[in-house]
Amino acid sequence: MIVCAEEARVEAELVDGLLACPSCREVLGPRGHGRERVLRCRSGDRLLVPRRARCRGCAGTHVLLPEVVLLRRHDEVAVIGEAIEANVAGEGHRSIASRLGVPADTVRGWLRRFVGRAELIRALFTRCAVALDPMHGSVLPAGSGVADALEAVAVAGRAWVLRFGPRPVWQIVSRLSAGGLLSRNTSSLATGAL
Ligand SMILES: [Zn+2]
Repeated sequence: MIVCAEEARVEAELVDGLLACPSCREVLGPRGHGRERVLRCRSGDRLLVPRRARCRGCAGTHVLLPEVVLLRRHDEVAVIGEAIEANVAGEGHRSIASRLGVPADTVRGWLRRFVGRAELIRALFTRCAVALDPMHGSVLPAGSGVADALEAVAVAGRAWVLRFGPRPVWQIVSRLSAGGLLSRNTSSLATGAL
């Protein structure tokens, strides 16, 4: 489950019973922490100790990951997003990898997954854009599958900002895709988090 990147705010919402279970929409309560993990960020490695929550309805447990991550990816979503944007603009994966300081195979893996998911991503973010802003959520064709997917991401990001306030676009992407933008399993792209 992907939540706001502000830890103190998430903690307060969790303790106050304001977070809903993604499975059944009942109230989540605090339940210890998930396992530690290291996130590679532009500013250096960051240790994450995510909060864990338990649902008072279905008793399911959920690890609350900040929206700076994608599921099962070691790199910050902003870095992954920058690589995708650069590639859609025409830059090759080796050049992107050396510029971002990430292994070339890792960057190639992100890009292949994004290309393979482009239509699902375009469809999800187009739905999100319309749900967030029914008046202005139109997504114009950008000329190719990946460019159309990226355009839908941008439109959904602007719609989010208009509704909820400023936030980095790739964090919005993590939130709206429930962290599953580049997951092997496409269920979170099919359903989204809205
Ligand atoms: Zn539940």
